[in-house]
This record gives sequence, C-alpha cells and structure tokens, in this order.
Amino acid sequence: MKLTNINKSFGNKHVLKNTTLDFPAGKTTVMVGPSGSGKSTILRSLNLLVMPESGQYDFGNHHLDFSHKVSSKDKLAIRQETGMVFQDYNLFPNKTVLGNIIEGPTQVLKQPKQEAIKVARELLAKVGLTEYGEAYPHELSGGQAQRVAIARALAMRPKYILLDEPTSALDPELELSVLKVLLQLADERQSMVIVTHNMVFAKRVADKIIFVEDGEILYDGSPTSFFAPNNPNQRIKNFIASMT
Ligand code: ATP
Ligand code: MG
Repeated sequence: MKLTNINKSFGNKHVLKNTTLDFPAGKTTVMVGPSGSGKSTILRSLNLLVMPESGQYDFGNHHLDFSHKVSSKDKLAIRQETGMVFQDYNLFPNKTVLGNIIEGPTQVLKQPKQEAIKVARELLAKVGLTEYGEAYPHELSGGQAQRVAIARALAMRPKYILLDEPTSALDPELELSVLKVLLQLADERQSMVIVTHNMVFAKRVADKIIFVEDGEILYDGSPTSFFAPNNPNQRIKNFIASMT
C-alpha cells in the first residue's frame, strides 16, 4: 500500500507535508521518530481513522484521492483490510476473550459463530493464550491483553496489521511476550506497520525503517544502513543513541 503526497493539518498545524510512503506487502515496516512527529497520524491515515486533506492512497484495488470525499464503500473495505492494534488494547471489558475475538468476524464478516470460535481458539494458541478464552479482560496482564488484541485483529484476516506503540504500556517482562508474537508474524510474512520506541526490537523485526521528524520523512530504507554506526545522518545517530 502506498500514500502519495498526503497533507494533514490539525487546526493551523500542518502535520504531514506532501508525505509519500510505500508499505510493502509481506513485509514489516517500522516507523520511528520523536514524540509528536506524526507517526500516529500516518498510521491512522492508513486505516482512515485520520482523513488527510489531499494526496492519494493506493491499497489493492482501491485508489483514493483525498481531495474528494472518500466513498463509504472504500472506507469500509479499507477499514476491514487493515487491523489496528492500539497501545491500550481497547478490548471490550464486558466480553470474554473469545467474545472479543469473534465480535468482528460474526458481526461484520457474518461468519457462523461456531466457525468463528474455532478460528479464535487457533489464534489464541498462536499468541500463547490457549487457556484464556473464557477469561475477562480485567483478569489479564497487560501483555496478555495486548496478545488478545493482536488475535482479535488477525481474526478479521486483514491484509495489513497496524500497531501503534503496542508495547509502550508494558513492563519489559510482559513486553517480551508481545514482541515474540510480532516476530513470529513477521517470520510468517504477515504485512505489518509498527510504530515503536524500542530500537532493539525495531532493528530485529524491520524489513524497512521510516524515520519521521516534524512530519518530514528523514529516512526510508533498510534497517541495516539506518542502524549502521557510520550512518552519515547525525540527527538519526543522535536519535538512536537517545533511545537506547
Ligand atoms: P508520539 O510518539 O508522542 O505518539 P506521534 O509521532 O505519534 O507522537 P502524532 O500523534 O501523529 O505524533 O501527532 C503529530 C502532531 O499532530 C502533534 O503535534 C499532535 O499534537 C498533533 N495532533 C495529532 N492528532 C491530533 C488531533 N486529533 N487534534 C489536534 N492535534 C493533533
Ligand atoms: Mg503516536
């Protein structure tokens, strides 16, 4: 999927300025950069939680021009094909883990309940939570809750999973359980876009790194040259040093 020349302002603050970015299918793209630089705004544009004022968005057969009103058909399709995972999990508190996972598949995709439950149990096994189907969100640790949120996103069979700082609310020990799941998904070539402040993880998981500062893309390329000690961009070197 690809954004071309997108612009987004909040009030008189011009956050994204002719931003052009490609997010290759089957790869993990990691976005890093200082707080307030525009990472979440880019990620949210990808699933249309944020609507840029201008620019184009190509996603599969969808070609959107943000200068015109996006049709509700395109909006619905793109929302379904991009699974969003938030920092604070956003699980439904009054539903069990299984209830959370089957909600989208049964309500939106109209899957029969039994089939949705079968898939949900497979996904729970994948994220290491086989025993937790009947638990409620308040009974889970943060790391477990986030793995449920990932399983819930996967249950919709989206083309891309978008994760906005999925582990920044977690203690290092719990963080690891979530990072392991993401590393496994990356190995399976699940298309992902991840915003993270964890540079060790970024280096390990990324096929491609995007560095955003002040709404500008200062780097878009391989993790190897991004993290290379001889990276000629002093700003990037300073940023990495400040994060590790
Ligand atoms: P962080 O690392 O802190 O999450 P970020 O890189 O994700 O930061 P964004 O959330 O994309 O940054 O914000 C970019 C800029 O846009 C910031 O100046 C922010 O205050 C502003 N902004 C983002 N969303 C809104 C909004 N809904 N209303 C007003 N301003 C917003
Ligand atoms: Mg953010």
